[in-house]
Parts: sequence; C-alpha cells; structure tokens
Amino acid sequence: MTLSELLPSLGCEAADHLEPGLWPRRTTLGEDGELLFADAPVSHLAARFGTPAYLLDEAQVRETARAYRRALPEADVAFASKALCTRAVLRWMAEEGMSLDTCSAGEIAVARAVGFPAERILLHGNAKTPEDLKAALQYGVGRIVLDSLDEIEQLGALGSQRVLIRVTPGVNGDTHAAITTGTEGQKFGFSLRADVRDNVDRAVAAVLAQPSLELTGLHCHIGSQVSRVDRYEEAARRMVEVLVRVRDQYGVTLRDLDLGGGHAVPYVDREASFDLDGYARRLRVALAYECSSRDFPLPHLTIEPGRAIVGPAGITVYRVCAVKRGARTFVAVDGGMSDNPRPALYGARYTARLVGRRTKAARTPMTVVGRHCESGDVLADVCLPDDIHVGDLLAVPCTGAYHHSLASNYNLVGRPPLVGVRDGHATLLVRRETEEDLLRRC
Ligand SMILES: *Cc1c(COP(=O)(O)O)cnc(C)c1O
Repeated sequence: MTLSELLPSLGCEAADHLEPGLWPRRTTLGEDGELLFADAPVSHLAARFGTPAYLLDEAQVRETARAYRRALPEADVAFASKALCTRAVLRWMAEEGMSLDTCSAGEIAVARAVGFPAERILLHGNAKTPEDLKAALQYGVGRIVLDSLDEIEQLGALGSQRVLIRVTPGVNGDTHAAITTGTEGQKFGFSLRADVRDNVDRAVAAVLAQPSLELTGLHCHIGSQVSRVDRYEEAARRMVEVLVRVRDQYGVTLRDLDLGGGHAVPYVDREASFDLDGYARRLRVALAYECSSRDFPLPHLTIEPGRAIVGPAGITVYRVCAVKRGARTFVAVDGGMSDNPRPALYGARYTARLVGRRTKAARTPMTVVGRHCESGDVLADVCLPDDIHVGDLLAVPCTGAYHHSLASNYNLVGRPPLVGVRDGHATLLVRRETEEDLLRRC
C-alpha cells in the first residue's frame, strides 16, 4: 500500500497542473480552468456534441504511428484495430503506412470500407468463424494467424492463403491475468511443450500438409499493458529458437516473425510507460544475436501495437449528474461502465479532473461513479474540488483505446460519440447511439 492510499488527502495537495504524460500532448489548461483539447475548448465540444463524449487528437494518433514506423523502419507496424476500429482511424493508419490487425469479419468490413490495402492486413483470433475466414479470403488479406488445428483444416479447404502460426512462448508479460496471453494455460497459441497434444510441432506439420496454405512465419503476443522491454527480448529469443527448430525438423526456413503488441501506456500519474526506442534497439540486438549465433537468416519483423497508438490520444468528457456526500463522496456522471468497462474488467485505474471553470475550493478524495445499476460501476478514485456540483464537466485522460471498442449499451444507455479534433476543428467520427438505434434491435 502506498502512502497516498493510506492518507488519501496527501495526494490531493498536488499543484493544479496537467499530469505530464497522461494527457494528450496538445491538451492545455487555460487561465479560466478551461481545458483546451488540440486547441478546442472542451466545454464548447461538450455543448456541441453532448456528454459523455470521446475526444481523439488526430495529430497525436498520426504522430505516434509515425514514431513507431521511424523506430522500426525495417518492420511492418500493424495497428491492432480492436483498440479503436472506425473508418476514420483506419484511414489515418492506411495513410501513415501502417499495416492492420483484425480479428473478425466486422473489423475486416471496416478496413474494406476505407480500401485499406488488403495485403497489409492480418487476421487473428482463437476462434475464427467460417464468416471471418471467408471475409478474409474474399478481401485477400495478406496473412492469417492460425490458432487451432481445426482452423488449419477449415482454412486449407477454403482457399490459398499465406499463414503464420501463433505460438505460446511461455513469456509472462507481468500484466493483469485477463490480458496475459503468452503463457501456458490460457486460450491463445500453440504450446511449445512436447507433452501437450495440440502443440507447435503438430500445427506446423498440419499446415505443411495443406497444399493451399503457405506457412511464412510465426507469431506471438505476450499480453497487454506490458512495460518491460526485457519480456519482448525474451519472447524474440524464444521465437528464434522455434524458427530454428522448425528449420531443423521440417527443412523449412520461415522468414516472418510477428512479435505482437501490448506496449504499456500510463493511465494514472507515475505509472510505467513504454520505452519505444529502447524496445526497438534491444529487439534488434536480441534478434541479430540470436539469429547469427544459430546461423538463421534475420526474419522480417511485424509488431502489433494497438493501445499505444490511440490510447494516450483520447479523453472522455462527462457531465456530473449528482454528488452524494456520505461516508465517502460519490460524484456520479452521465456515463460509466458502458463507455469504460476497464475498471470493472481489469481493476484499471484512472484519474479525472474538473474542466470548464476555475475554483479555489480544496481538493478532497472522491469516487467518480457511473450511472449504471451495479456498485462496481466505478470510474476513478480521485481528488476533486470540494465545490463540485451538478452540471460540472469532468475529463478522464487516456481513453482512446479499448473504450469506444469495448463500449456496450448496458441499461440501454446509448454509446457516446467519437469526436476527432485537429487544430481546433472538431469532426464527428462516430455519432452518438440514439434511442432509435436501440429500438431498431429490441
Ligand atoms: C490485443 C492484441 C494486440 C494489441 O494489443 P495492445 O495492448 O493494444 O497493443 C496485438 N496483437 C494481438 C494478437 C492482440 O490480440
């Protein structure tokens, strides 16, 4: 337990500034308490688009994509579309020269709608449906990442395709159990263990036995919110070992190595972030060393960041609906677990700040809760000005990834709009879900 958890009011004495690294780079605090998001006053955006609303800084999304491409120019950088899949975002990714991870016919449909170059698309998933596979083949996606023996058979019968095999490298990303994906005992990938029935060796043999499938490489993804670069080095070393093993056993030299995504971003002050340049440098060294010492040609690298590309570029704006001062002060807002299920799913922590007015009131510990009918519908434990009241606006940073995409319409609350902002100009990227939308389906 940290000191600020024991004595919450201690943490409330912090100066009134935007925590560095948590807010999108172009977000600034005005003299009047207004928050400027990419030069647009947040209270104006709230008035124009309503609340809750997701705001996304387009320039930052593009810059982050560019930073990845610059850090690893020799690699394919595939944006994991599940983090935020809208036409506009996929268009930006195509324009920035990114590749694209998809894991359903629906995500492929959005990619297709914007003409995302098919050869730069990968399809993942531990349980691809026949519709997913058909959509991928119809559009002609570059690579499909195979994740079960059943799928190898099904795809082999459907048509010709370049494929990768997903491996469970046995590397722990040191993250929440629900987003740990590189260890034994979770549903993704083929095991490296000889005593496991459906292991990597069987998968390789099964793919090689399918004349329509061209095995070009291996894939792994160790988890999400991984901040330790050494875990990626470890995964890279193990994957080269597997490439060597496949060469020695089957006489095929696989040229593609996909090391997945999962790069961490900070959600609250002083949380670990990801050292992209260090990652690029150390990965390169690890791969070069491992390959040369085993006399294996350097594979073509693919990486798959999702959260890191869009997460820090987004914020959510809420309006306060009620303040309840009991044993603890609850600030209830007009959204909640329907637009942000991450606290309930992973115990994720967030911060929030009052925007749109200045106050000299003391900051005290409060819990920001949503409007849904569950007591687990909590957004953040934070310090807010004591005079917070109905009608105030709150902003929560780092909501660009896995918010819009994980949103539900629980309690038949319509999902919020996604507003792109660039140079002070706002564009509605996804409109708010209306009662009409809801009624159409129930
Ligand atoms: C979720 C996922 C990613 C992206 O993870 P982030 O944490 O958003 O970077 C990449 N690859 C695969 C296979 C995934 O499942």
